[in-house]
Amino acid sequence: MIPTPPEETPPLIRRSVAALEGYVPGEQPSGQTLIKLNTNENPYPPPPKVQQALQAFAVDGLRRYPDPSCLALREKLASYHGASADQVLVGNGSDEVLALCLRAFVEREGSVGYFDPSYSLYPVLAAIEDVSTRPVALGPDFEWAMPAGYEASLFFLANPNAPTGLLFSKHDVRAFCEVFPGVVLIDEAYVDFAREDCVDLALSLPNVLVARTLSKSFSLAGLRLGYAVGSTALIAALHKIRDSYNVSALSQALAEAALDDVGAVRENIGRIRATREKTAEDLGARGFSVTPSDANFLWVRPPDGGAKELFAALRQENILVRYFPGPRTGEHLRITIGTDGQMAQFVEALDRIARA
Ligand code: PMP
Repeated sequence: MIPTPPEETPPLIRRSVAALEGYVPGEQPSGQTLIKLNTNENPYPPPPKVQQALQAFAVDGLRRYPDPSCLALREKLASYHGASADQVLVGNGSDEVLALCLRAFVEREGSVGYFDPSYSLYPVLAAIEDVSTRPVALGPDFEWAMPAGYEASLFFLANPNAPTGLLFSKHDVRAFCEVFPGVVLIDEAYVDFAREDCVDLALSLPNVLVARTLSKSFSLAGLRLGYAVGSTALIAALHKIRDSYNVSALSQALAEAALDDVGAVRENIGRIRATREKTAEDLGARGFSVTPSDANFLWVRPPDGGAKELFAALRQENILVRYFPGPRTGEHLRITIGTDGQMAQFVEALDRIARA
């Protein structure tokens, strides 16, 4: 008798997940001795009202589930943007908002678009959902380059772009949104450091959302609070699929306090912009090519293009910056803007390395 072969055991892990190269976040070292210019965090403390709200927070309230739809916070965000609460969805960081968009707006046979280079999480989110990608190469200086007739189900448009810091003009963004057949998610994680934003497009066009975060300009990366603003129908779709309690009660309370203190946020933004311009000058004077930045970081090419080596040399000097290997990004470094003191130390370290 011929033995029947054993049935093949089905894999335990979904194929797309087994094949996935996960997103690699910037290093978060535990020691305090490093100057950390690698993850675009804000070097200044969160607005003072956040500390007060934390002290006043009634721990007993944590017995209960939080408000599932973050209504009070959505109302504050809505009035901040001249929108209504049903045009706002709050998420556990804007990364959650991006993931929700992919699940809500892309069919299995659909596709996800984004510029190359841009935020390296976008292709990972597409790979997780096992949908195809249609990246669009930026121009030689990382400028806008959208082919006519380009189509996808969803386009992630970081503006200002990351990791370049370059702001795309509202004229280009609007013209694209008006003809693109799918949803455009304008990722404005860094827009508070920029000259203009596109919230008005999200509030007037049916296929556009803007994503924002409190991680950068509000100095609250650890809180994990992001949100989307825009078309009521798109926002309602995101509400349908989010986790029931996707934002903790503590996050909601502290985010509300932060929004009551935007004056303090604006002061820090002003400082960071001034430091950004000074650092750009210092680097330009040392032969670096510096992409014009509307964000809280600089995208720079060292004089000899040896970005990987410079990354390692700065690490030896206890300064962490971000290096993205790859054909479009491998000759550049992304430098988060820290305090004036930190940036002075950074420039001194560059001079030491150049002399060595
Ligand atoms: N979008 C862009 C372009 C980013 O660089 C980041 C930060 N890594 C995010 C979104 C996510 O921010 P968060 O999840 O902290 O809100």
